Amino acid sequence: MPELPEVETTKRGIEPYLHNQSITKILVRQKSLRIPFNDNLKKHITHVKIKNIKRRAKYIVIDFANEYSMVIHLGMTGNLRASRQKKFLKHDHIIFYLESGNSLIFNDVRRFGLVQIYKTKGSFYLLDNNGPDPFEKKADVDYFYNRIKNSSASIKSILLNHKIISGIGNIYASEILFSTNISPLRMGRDISHTDCKKILQQSKIILNKAIKAGGTTLNDYFNAESKPGYFKIQLNVYGKEGEKCPSCESKISKITQSNRSTYFCKESQN
Ligand SMILES: [Zn+2]
Repeated sequence: MPELPEVETTKRGIEPYLHNQSITKILVRQKSLRIPFNDNLKKHITHVKIKNIKRRAKYIVIDFANEYSMVIHLGMTGNLRASRQKKFLKHDHIIFYLESGNSLIFNDVRRFGLVQIYKTKGSFYLLDNNGPDPFEKKADVDYFYNRIKNSSASIKSILLNHKIISGIGNIYASEILFSTNISPLRMGRDISHTDCKKILQQSKIILNKAIKAGGTTLNDYFNAESKPGYFKIQLNVYGKEGEKCPSCESKISKITQSNRSTYFCKESQN
């Protein structure tokens, strides 16, 4: 599933192709996505200059020079690529033709992603439901501490709760907790202000590493025939049940929390 680093890399990858461009035509080959694409709104973003492209949590948002925006979510299997090719791949659902002759293509095998056009001012409701991601100013230590200080949920579940903090994802949650020596089982109310600071710092460090690693695979990403590979960041605990912990002699444990796998070291993390 594309996580925040993959989405950020995608955004950085398509940005140069969209800079100062406008969409001349939108071809919809399959509109039945997680939320059906609304054909009636196409007219609002064609022949209008693209003003800005940004990422919020795991959403890519393209603002146009009128009062419209388009939000894209990659779901489980979605990807976006820029291409000059005229021939389509299987699962290329929506094609945005650009002035430059390039096109921006939304491909999604399982169709859990979405592409929605909306009035910028009204904003898109799924974006409003998301808490800030670790890179947003709003996600400071006081914010995070206040959101979790009375919580009896585990810190692992809290890191995956996008209403509190968005964009962390399951693999990175285990890695962040390992690097802060905090047990995934600890409850929100047992996490100190200092712990919150460490968690936010490590979140940024680890996600940034993944974004950097993604940058190196970008060329492959834009070979029209290929799919983005998972970023190869050095993982310390995730997927390493029974292996030796990188900071002590104990073995890494695997448990299930809220139906998701968690990997951690019982000795190093408490
Ligand atoms: Zn250990």
